[in-house]
Amino acid sequence: MDISVSRVDEAARRQRPADGELGFGKYFTDHMFVMSWDRGRGWHDARIVPFGDFSLSPASMVLHYGQAIFEGLKAYRGDDDSIFLFRPLDNLNRMNRSAVRMCMPEIDPEAVLDALRQLLRLDAAWVPQGRGASLYIRPTMIATEAGLGVKPADSYLFFIILSPVGAYYPEGFNPVKIFVSDKYVRAVRGGVGDVKTAGNYAASIMAAVEAKEHGYTQVLWLDAIERKYIEEIGTSNIFFLFDESLVTPPLSGSILPGITRESVITMARDWGISVEERPISIDEVLSAIESGTLKEIFATGTAAVISPVGALSYKGREHVVNGGVTGGLASRLFDSLQGLQYGRLPDPYGWRVKV
Ligand SMILES: *Cc1c(COP(=O)(O)O)cnc(C)c1O
Repeated sequence: MDISVSRVDEAARRQRPADGELGFGKYFTDHMFVMSWDRGRGWHDARIVPFGDFSLSPASMVLHYGQAIFEGLKAYRGDDDSIFLFRPLDNLNRMNRSAVRMCMPEIDPEAVLDALRQLLRLDAAWVPQGRGASLYIRPTMIATEAGLGVKPADSYLFFIILSPVGAYYPEGFNPVKIFVSDKYVRAVRGGVGDVKTAGNYAASIMAAVEAKEHGYTQVLWLDAIERKYIEEIGTSNIFFLFDESLVTPPLSGSILPGITRESVITMARDWGISVEERPISIDEVLSAIESGTLKEIFATGTAAVISPVGALSYKGREHVVNGGVTGGLASRLFDSLQGLQYGRLPDPYGWRVKV
């Protein structure tokens, strides 16, 4: 891929805020990667340009019919100042599966990874130093054709923006309280819940707002048909540690195939833990909490890494998990994943990619 580069002058470069002020997704780096697609021409005009606004027609199809897909991954700064990515091709291949489902054009994952590396080298000063902090990477694709007919658009924009983010757990690795929604659903088999398309997140906001109003951090989604089987927590996958095994819902078409989920399954199996991907009902979970056979619940995802669950609220009753404290397996997985991501531990799986 031929990439033209238009750099921000050294003197005009902005200062990265202190790690403690970063939060999540509030600041953006000096540059971004952009390329365009038209039916007939394919991808063209690959460019690294100063971060800035786009000019779009108000009739752009993304604004009306929501052809928008994205990915989320991170760059981590190691102790020796090397910068690492974690399984980046898995993200770009998943983006292609999202593209196919939404009738959008596929990208060349290897070429886009090269472009991302170039962008990261240019904005390397934006990768935070602090423990737990990282540079969040957001590849995105939108339909730009101006027109009001519902059909696959004839032009698209692909871009990558970068945002330095603080540690997800600045006050320590503490469990969160989760609200089980029996009123709203996230996705249904045959729909688009198994791809990262913008509309899924728009549809989830109301449930999250109501959960917060009740004092809960996130929503646990049940299946859309029986409102019985566990699907995901917010925008993370979910795991349950029973006496005998670690259990996570199967990829049955309505949950997002998380890369962290897959990494956790692989590592746990390597540690000799039995891992099952099978349907699990909310009733099974609650009775296992009651009987003491459910040891831990945690969520997995790029943003939060591993997020222990301390309590579930369902039909007006709160059920405390593991005495409301972080479990041993969640801690071990958190340390191992972060160790791999930041280059502090050996990488037997070949997941780490040096920039
Ligand atoms: C992105 C996402 C996840 C987590 O995927 P990772 O690849 O582990 O970051 C889980 N659920 C939903 C709905 C998501 O959008």
